[in-house]
Amino acid sequence: IEPADSLVHALRTAVAEASDRTFLAYFDARLSYRQVDELTDSVAAHLAARGLERGDRVAVLLQNSPHFVLAVLGAWKAGATVVPVNPMYKSAEVGHVLRDGEVTALVCSDRAWESYLRDTAARSPVRIVLTGCELDFQTRNDARVLRFERLPQAPDADDLVTVARQGGTAPADRDPRPDDIALISYTSGTSGTPKGATNTHGNIMHNAERQSTGLGLPEAPVYYALAPLFHITGMVCQFGACLNSAGTLALTYRFEPGLVLEAFAEHQPHYTVGPSTAFMALAAHPDATREHFASFVNISSGGAPVPPALVEGFRERFGPYIRVGYGLTECTAPCAAVPPGLEAPVDPVSGTLSVGVPGADAFVRILDEQGAEVPFGEQGEIVVRGPQVVPGYWRRPDATAETFPDGELRTGDIGFMDEQGWLYVVDRKKDMINASGFKVWPREVEDVLYTHPAVREAAVVGVPDGYRGETVKAFVSLRPGAEADPDELAVYCKERLAAYKYPRQVEVLPDLPKTASGKILRRELRSRPHETR
Ligand code: ATP
Repeated sequence: IEPADSLVHALRTAVAEASDRTFLAYFDARLSYRQVDELTDSVAAHLAARGLERGDRVAVLLQNSPHFVLAVLGAWKAGATVVPVNPMYKSAEVGHVLRDGEVTALVCSDRAWESYLRDTAARSPVRIVLTGCELDFQTRNDARVLRFERLPQAPDADDLVTVARQGGTAPADRDPRPDDIALISYTSGTSGTPKGATNTHGNIMHNAERQSTGLGLPEAPVYYALAPLFHITGMVCQFGACLNSAGTLALTYRFEPGLVLEAFAEHQPHYTVGPSTAFMALAAHPDATREHFASFVNISSGGAPVPPALVEGFRERFGPYIRVGYGLTECTAPCAAVPPGLEAPVDPVSGTLSVGVPGADAFVRILDEQGAEVPFGEQGEIVVRGPQVVPGYWRRPDATAETFPDGELRTGDIGFMDEQGWLYVVDRKKDMINASGFKVWPREVEDVLYTHPAVREAAVVGVPDGYRGETVKAFVSLRPGAEADPDELAVYCKERLAAYKYPRQVEVLPDLPKTASGKILRRELRSRPHETR
């Protein structure tokens, strides 16, 4: 069979091969491939009837529910570009995305529409609104989903589920082409206002194909959506890869360790991918047992540093080996990963775990500040070229030229490659701490903290210091029931790191601030009040 050139095409192939197979499993509700095909035809017909044209933008602001998938596939069938929006965004952030993306259609939950989106959308080009009703897909556990309860339907919006059920045919001639922009993925904006990376259907299919065929999963695999679908990892490695292999995607709205463990027991997934913080939270849950992880053929983690102590501790307690992957929104999720059957080496000098080897057609180079390639083992900026790299940022020729000179992605990450081709990410260029002229990479200090038995999460930042210019400060959260005082943790690091690297200040917090995709927000920690000398 010819490989699909878009996920719409992949859906049609799956319907032809396995129309009654469950595509989406959400608590007690199941939707087969045929049903999803019909429901999304209907959404596409509705959008087109309301005047949506090829290339128009549809924002989707939803958690991991079947509605997300119906909205995205419906929009693609209507020829639109999808703008996934982080459901944790505040009104001003959503407003920026709606205006910057010139979004004309919005799909969101009733609750978000009622509480703030109606006003936000009024100041933007949005003219078609669909609000989703999660309860329609629920038959059980009403108490558990009470917080998603349906509000009286907004009079100024159509209901997604009603629209999906009214029947209709997707407009002919709107099928996505490989170079069409499938997604405008807004970055979290750690450096200035968020920019939209333009992932094409070709970009997505390239990585979805690798994630569905390269993992050794059985036929009709079950994927569990641990990462949020609005984020590129969830979109491509879970939704995209699952659809491309006509598998089943189990969803549970949003990350809650107890619900995730129940879903593992119920759906027996073969594969999942999430940030390292999600695996730390699962490991810290009192109910977690080996049986919960018995069905997995593969587990991946990426999008943020993965401490070696997590991978080892997880294998000892639960069995699976967490395979690390490395990627960015700008290269449509992974461009390097630990191949199945192999284990990532740890760099003997820094103690950093490798993020894997570049994918077959991801051309990864390490450059020095003058743009020349460095020898094996030397640090420099990681740059990537290949069919997964986006053509640029949405309407930002300046930022596109800077980040993608010649179409090659400048990742802003510092790393190195060993002689065997294993890639190591040292840290983000902009997170380097300069303590009296000494370079300290937060990641190395965090890896040491993670080997301490009391530490659950760790983040290291540079804070202003009258004497050194900048000094190393560590924030940690502790495992349930564990105790450790800040001085003890500082001494622990001092015994294991060069004198200029160990944290001069340690602060224990109940939890570290994280993005919706589970990354620890060093930037938020940096801006907290600090003692200065
Ligand atoms: P912004 O670009 O606005 O800061 P973001 O960090 O959320 O937003 P993403 O595209 O989600 O953007 O994340 C990509 C970054 O995540 C990489 O540049 C890298 O710093 C980090 N990263 C991804 N995988 C790994 C990994 N395995 N180890 C260490 N860091 C990783």
